[in-house]
Amino acid sequence: MKGIVCEEMESFRMRDDLPEPELTEGHAIVAIRRIGICGTDYHAFKGQQPFFQYPRILGHELSGVITAIGGNDRGLSAGDRVAIIPYLHCGKCRACRIGQTNCCAEMRVIGVHQDGGMRERISVPVSHLLNVNSLSLDEAALVEPLAIGAHAVRRGGVRPSDTVLVIGSGPIGLGVMAFAKHAGARVIAMDISRERLDFCASWAGADDRIDALAPNAKERLAVLTDGEYPALV
Ligand SMILES: [Zn+2]
Ligand SMILES: [Zn+2]
Repeated sequence: MKGIVCEEMESFRMRDDLPEPELTEGHAIVAIRRIGICGTDYHAFKGQQPFFQYPRILGHELSGVITAIGGNDRGLSAGDRVAIIPYLHCGKCRACRIGQTNCCAEMRVIGVHQDGGMRERISVPVSHLLNVNSLSLDEAALVEPLAIGAHAVRRGGVRPSDTVLVIGSGPIGLGVMAFAKHAGARVIAMDISRERLDFCASWAGADDRIDALAPNAKERLAVLTDGEYPALV
């Protein structure tokens, strides 16, 4: 099986001798079709990610097609398009027991703590697959990064009357903006890149933009909010 292995810092190698994943109880084999590149992947490649060990197969923003699956209670079958939830929580620690699985003390992230999706096929727990037959494979690979913004907006309890300031307009910030707009809020984007600020308006519908490097950035924020400043940042 082919795959791309990050063998050490700043070194990728194409391999064609990777072992095939075996179908085991509670898991499915997914043929990877799209891989998003995350900042985490860049940091891993650059050797700036302290919990990385090498060699490692990167890739945690994943979509694909199920090629093999046993009986399951999720209604999934071979041929289904899926997005992968890469956060493998232990289910036993205190955080997991109270439902905050993102804070799991034994968290294993696919493509970070264990080998990820930059290979032809991967074994994934059925519990960590989302049926995305209604999405394109490109869209499905964005489910993981966009979910971070969705989670932030939900936790922030964003309401239509709110003004939300989002500092940083990389992919995660853009996701926060899009979901804050979806919640009906007014969104102010702040970044040091004019080009990215323009994209915040065209892609995420940000209402106002502030150049963080401008000497009057704080005053502009005050003017935009009638001196109240944003309630949510
Ligand atoms: Zn990521
Ligand atoms: Zn846990």
